[in-house]
Amino acid sequence: MPRRLAITVKGIVQGVGFRPFVYSLAHSLNLAGWVKNAAIGVLIEIEGPDSDIEQFCHYLSSQAPPLARIDSISQEDIPYQGISGFVILPSDGGERDTLIAPDMAICPECLADMRDPNNRRYRYPFTNCTNCGPRFTIIESLPYDRPATTMRDFTLCDACDAEYHDPMNRRFHAQPNACPVCGPQMAFNNNEGKHVSGDVWQLADSALKKGEILAVKGLGGYHLVCDAQNEQAVKKLRSRKYRWDKPFAVMMPNIDTIKRFCLVNDEEEFLLNSRRRPIVLLQKKKGEELAFEVAPNNARLGVMLPYTPMHYLLMEQQIALIMTSGNISDEPIVYQDDEAFSRLAQIADSFLINNRPIFRRCDDSVVVFAADKARLLRRSRGYAPEPLSFNKVNQSILACGGEQKNTFCLTKGKKAFLSQHIGDLENLATLESFEKEIAYFQKMFAISPKVIAYDLHPEYLSTKYALDYPGDVKTIGVQHHHAHLASVLAEAGVSEPVIGLIFDGTGYGTDGHLWGGEVLVGNAVSYSRAAHLDYVPMPGGAKAIREPWRMALSYLAATIGVEGLGKHSLVKDFPDNWQLLWQTTQKGINAPLTSGMGRLFDAVAACCGIGQKVNYEGQAAIELEQSIIPQTANAYQFAIKQEQNTDGYIIDWRPVFNSLIEDLASGQIIGAIAWRFHEAVINLALEICLILKEKLAINTVALSGGVWQNIYLMEGTIKVLREAGFEVLSNSKVPTNDGGISYGQAAVAAACL
Ligand code: ZN
Ligand code: ZN
Ligand code: FE
Repeated sequence: MPRRLAITVKGIVQGVGFRPFVYSLAHSLNLAGWVKNAAIGVLIEIEGPDSDIEQFCHYLSSQAPPLARIDSISQEDIPYQGISGFVILPSDGGERDTLIAPDMAICPECLADMRDPNNRRYRYPFTNCTNCGPRFTIIESLPYDRPATTMRDFTLCDACDAEYHDPMNRRFHAQPNACPVCGPQMAFNNNEGKHVSGDVWQLADSALKKGEILAVKGLGGYHLVCDAQNEQAVKKLRSRKYRWDKPFAVMMPNIDTIKRFCLVNDEEEFLLNSRRRPIVLLQKKKGEELAFEVAPNNARLGVMLPYTPMHYLLMEQQIALIMTSGNISDEPIVYQDDEAFSRLAQIADSFLINNRPIFRRCDDSVVVFAADKARLLRRSRGYAPEPLSFNKVNQSILACGGEQKNTFCLTKGKKAFLSQHIGDLENLATLESFEKEIAYFQKMFAISPKVIAYDLHPEYLSTKYALDYPGDVKTIGVQHHHAHLASVLAEAGVSEPVIGLIFDGTGYGTDGHLWGGEVLVGNAVSYSRAAHLDYVPMPGGAKAIREPWRMALSYLAATIGVEGLGKHSLVKDFPDNWQLLWQTTQKGINAPLTSGMGRLFDAVAACCGIGQKVNYEGQAAIELEQSIIPQTANAYQFAIKQEQNTDGYIIDWRPVFNSLIEDLASGQIIGAIAWRFHEAVINLALEICLILKEKLAINTVALSGGVWQNIYLMEGTIKVLREAGFEVLSNSKVPTNDGGISYGQAAVAAACL
């Protein structure tokens, strides 16, 4: 029985080789009809014998090209026409790509082209095809055509043009298509901007061997690069970049090399090799080592494989290169050439560059595999701007995110476009980047938000931006930890109330205090604060985040009193003026109250002599986690008390510090103390959930907040909760840290509409 079908395919199906795929599929089955791009996706009409049509439909979804993401396929029988031949029709007028693919790593076919001495792209660093290469970072506007990308000034040569127009070619309509004749070229400059002649790869290799620092122009910005086995080079990079202790990411040429330095399980290997090519946090292996300064006092190492042809060529003679964002201190990654020379010349000895402009910055993504899931800690290159699923609302929402690790989120129908990593919104450059990207996203995806969601913290620049947003918009303030909770629920598509264990650094609470050790019960619509860590002052305010000894002072003084503390040997590690500081703190001067779980971890770490001062957020907690030596008994214990005048609970940490002080006095090893504390938090999580389950008959627990980046804590908590019969939800597609806040804010705003 012959039959004709009209098929509509929606999703990421344009600019990813979908039409050529349909074309060759139809030809291989001898079917007739046509395919074309349209505003809503790809339209197909196909006719032929019933069984072949069935085959066609099967392969259409099961063998789609690698960069395609099919969200839906709908089909309808229409009258059979008895035509012959299958063609690609020109796009409908007013075409509007709705989705843009993320930047993807070079595909195996292109890599083979580049490694084949007889191929015209032999060793060509900008080789790509419809299955791979730059997208998001070169697209200026839509529809996605070459003139709308930063490739517009490179005119295709005859050979490339022929590929571009041949439906059977892998480079059919590959907008960034290029070759050595017509495409971008590499160059090597010294740090005065002078061109150095010679083979760029040899120049780069010899500079790296000499221990020099290279600024390398990549996909979404400049990296600062040096030999990760050269201690002096790494030290030099740290001092020039003003970046202390915070681990550097490393690029290694292949999986075998990575396995020399790190433990890699199957899931991690899969992540490393994936087309998205994130940085994967791996356990360091004993034995062969990189320079100590790469990731000092850290048991983990962030590693990635090469992802562009340029990186493959650069890595040919290398074992491990530091590949860290090209910026000074906390500024956003440098991505424009003139800016690179002015900003990075004081750090880099030379520049490995090219003349393909980068349209927007996009940092590397970071992922860790833990508790059976790949978890994004930074969702950026390779992932952005692929939309996340979202509960459909009629009005579009702009969620402005938090302050640290900022991202923003724009929604349209059932899609949430989460931005790439913007950074810490604490300096002008980052704020500019934030504002500029919001404008680009709105234009690119044709979204004009009618609802603006923001954090309650009045001092966050993202909050100020939201409240100053022009035009007739509705603004919705979202409590920080409610946003964390909602981010997990939105990811999981859950709408009924759950118990949320929101363990975080700090976020602005509805009582004006800084929350962060919160047990919330609710969903995206509303929540109640079922329990929280008892408040303590943060001596000196935000300074206490960078100097964890201040938090130790606060908790200890609150536990044993200032006289008791004075007699304790712990104070020998405090600066001499600690008593003065405590006096001003008690008067409430520059001493906001916090219930932050992150601050509690800081305090315990500082008591153990870890991280008296830290150089990046979470450093003390990370070092505490990694010092754990498992014990068999005697975990510390929190006390859970009924809160006065509410039906909530207060989590009292005094018993924890009393035991901790005893342990320190008796000379207990730090590894045991770290274990006892972590187990106390895990037990606390279970205990509070059991209490709330009894009271409210809720059996689902959601974990979110920056503290859950602590893998020991997360794995331990998930395990005990599951054993007790709870269903446990946690972040994986969006970060559990503040990178996921905007997505959660959007979910809350949608639920409020
Ligand atoms: Zn390719
Ligand atoms: Zn060419
Ligand atoms: Fe947070």
